Amino acid sequence: MCFLQVLFRLPTDDPFPNLRELHGWIEPALLRFLHRFISPRLTDFSVYVDTDDQLGCLGYGSLTDAISVIPGSPLRKFSLGEYQWENASAKFKQEVSAMVLRCGSALNYLNSGVELSEQAVLHVIQLPHLHTLKLTHESPPDITDTFPRDTIVLPSIHSLTLATPTTHAWLQFLNDLRWRHPTATAVGRPGQPQAQIGIHSTLKELFCGCGEEPKRATIKHALAFKNLTTLEVGQFCPNDRCSFDLTDDDATAIAKALPQLQKLLLGHPCRMNTCQTTFRSLLTLSANCVELTELIVHFNTTNIVEDVKSLLETQDPDIQKLRKGPRCGVTSLPVFMTPLAVDKASVDLLAKGLLLVFPMLGKYPVGFGAKGAPARPSITATLVWLHVRSAISRLKDLHDPDP
Ligand SMILES: [Zn+2]
Repeated sequence: MCFLQVLFRLPTDDPFPNLRELHGWIEPALLRFLHRFISPRLTDFSVYVDTDDQLGCLGYGSLTDAISVIPGSPLRKFSLGEYQWENASAKFKQEVSAMVLRCGSALNYLNSGVELSEQAVLHVIQLPHLHTLKLTHESPPDITDTFPRDTIVLPSIHSLTLATPTTHAWLQFLNDLRWRHPTATAVGRPGQPQAQIGIHSTLKELFCGCGEEPKRATIKHALAFKNLTTLEVGQFCPNDRCSFDLTDDDATAIAKALPQLQKLLLGHPCRMNTCQTTFRSLLTLSANCVELTELIVHFNTTNIVEDVKSLLETQDPDIQKLRKGPRCGVTSLPVFMTPLAVDKASVDLLAKGLLLVFPMLGKYPVGFGAKGAPARPSITATLVWLHVRSAISRLKDLHDPDP
């Protein structure tokens, strides 16, 4: 937005009266020009303030000036990019909340960037066409005396992002029986049960910060959203302990409850190796969620050779059934810091097991996570994983000679 400076010389205060879409990155020093882009016809406002340090008083004032003159009713998308906003949240709350309250049924995408007032949250969750909502700090509103029983909250929501400290409270709120099982009159079909309406039917993507907290309780709530194609919960474990508290049975519950998952991220595997999920969870998820293409999950490798052997050889009818069934399309399994200590003779067995679970494994069958991951496994474990990777490639060549 450097060309904003050109506007400084323009003779009018209203150079773009018909501007409909405003997208871009802006430096704090140029924020004072921003209000000149706000036209009465603005439908899309998507601005990221590019700052490495806190905005000064001038920056805050200019940004709030611009937000204050955004007309509400035509607005379809409002997205205020955040970076080191933590201290700014309270400063923008009033203006952004007031702007949100001016918006109406046209608004379908809201990333407020800062905390909204409870009044604004109450308004937002009733917007009829809102398909994407990213919340920052807000707690769920107290609707006990405000909403009638059959209100459908977030009726068109497709993608929801919740912040770490409030995730659990929000999922509890959204799973309130009052919303999940409205009376028949609320959906216009007297006498017909309609359990799956509103958010429990429309939500496809759920992104939850879970921080260092255990994930089990949060995920249990997320399983109510049966049509999810993306579920992301949590990030990295703390340095000194593993916060991943799911079991193989929990993985089975996820796999059975959310069969349409394409992307499942349950926190990045750490090097503690104390988690209770095992190789079995990988098979359960792959066999039940056949649309999966991205999977990040902890699995304990302490007894991985025995775990794989058992899956390959067991007579357990449930596992046998899973062994024969379809599989997901995961082409690369990120192991992040997962330790691995197996002897040379077991590397091929592990490769075989991984191919049984993920037959679509490709050029980089085992990865160590995207850029920005805090660390790889130990050097020894990395080498073993690389041996497994080579063994998978060899086995793939054997079975799939054509390039
Ligand atoms: Zn962990």
